[in-house]
Amino acid sequence: MITVSQALEQLFTLVSPLPSQDVPLRLANGRVLARDVLAARTQPPFAASSMDGYAVKSAEVEADAMFKVVGEAAAGHAWDGVVGAGQAVRIFTGAPLPQGADFIVIQEDVTRRGDLITLGRNIDTKDNIRAAGVDFMQGAPLSAPRKLTPADIALLAAMNAPVVPVTRKPVVALISTGDELVMPGEHPKADQIIVSNTFGLAAMLEDLGAQPRILPIAQDSEASLRAAFTLAKGADLIITIGGASVGDHDLVGPVAADMGMEQSFYKVAMRPGKPLMAGRLAGVPMIGLPGNPVSAMVCGTVFVTPMIRAMQGLGKTPAPRVQRALSAALPANGPREHYMRATLTAEGAAGAQVQDSSLLSVLATSNALIVRPPNDPAQPVGATVDIIHI
Ligand code: AMP
Ligand code: MG
Repeated sequence: MITVSQALEQLFTLVSPLPSQDVPLRLANGRVLARDVLAARTQPPFAASSMDGYAVKSAEVEADAMFKVVGEAAAGHAWDGVVGAGQAVRIFTGAPLPQGADFIVIQEDVTRRGDLITLGRNIDTKDNIRAAGVDFMQGAPLSAPRKLTPADIALLAAMNAPVVPVTRKPVVALISTGDELVMPGEHPKADQIIVSNTFGLAAMLEDLGAQPRILPIAQDSEASLRAAFTLAKGADLIITIGGASVGDHDLVGPVAADMGMEQSFYKVAMRPGKPLMAGRLAGVPMIGLPGNPVSAMVCGTVFVTPMIRAMQGLGKTPAPRVQRALSAALPANGPREHYMRATLTAEGAAGAQVQDSSLLSVLATSNALIVRPPNDPAQPVGATVDIIHI
């Protein structure tokens, strides 16, 4: 059995960044920027007023000074004269600073009568001018790779980038296996259950910006599994769920091998998730997850998510961990790395009382996994542990 980090290393060798495609800015949120985008213009393109007030010469600003208002500049309406000595231009936020002026007195500091303004006695020294290019200069990059956020989208818009190069979405085929499984909404027989983790994994993949394809459930027969693998053609990653142990009905390994899978590994020293297999089937990376609902979801966090990020060009890094104190003691761990369902609050992290890998209700109320090293001794309240947010 290999360790989790060895397994992840091998999984990373199976995948590489996908090619890029151009998408309209409106469809770019959450996508991964594939190449640096350079600002097509400087922002602001001109020195602009940041307040409503009067544009004057700073050398003339003093208590009780008087100016004659000779024009008006509003956003989108520059005043194209030159401000002379003793003159002021009425100006509004976002308007270009007129030539000859280098200071905006805010309107609250001014008394106006007709065309004349008089300054008050407590004029702030702040000039209320946004210099040209203070946000960014033409040619400034938004650097790749990055998963685009709403703030990035606003920045790209300001850079005048109507079309954005992003990494193509990884298409992921999800194959559920098992004679006992039926789809949600169907009517299970007395000895059947509903496919669950497949939908959880599809949701996880969508959150990551991948494109899951839930294939029809494969029965525990060679023919059915073969048909499912055939349907998975064209995917960038094939994920099977269940049928990966060594029971008589666990056929994923044998059928995939028969179809020419080059196996990278089988079995990882972790809890939950031991019967994990991976390899390449007709050139397509494949990962076989255990069927137990929580095992599959934990493997989704620990293995699938980093693989998808690697395919998106976001680098080959494990799920990020933070260190937190325990708010409840933990018993000694066994010989496998344990990903314990846990709740993280301001008080610290507490492992769930029951850790059975079939309990989706426990997973759904957890917001973290506590990662226990193999053979970790019992840990008291206050001990520091590794946490993965889920
Ligand atoms: P297996 O890995 O096929 O031996 O499955 C282990 C356990 O997980 C069994 O109790 C299965 O019924 C259950 N299981 C397998 N696949 C799924 C699935 N897609 N959704 C929910 N439960 C599953
Ligand atoms: Mg099964």
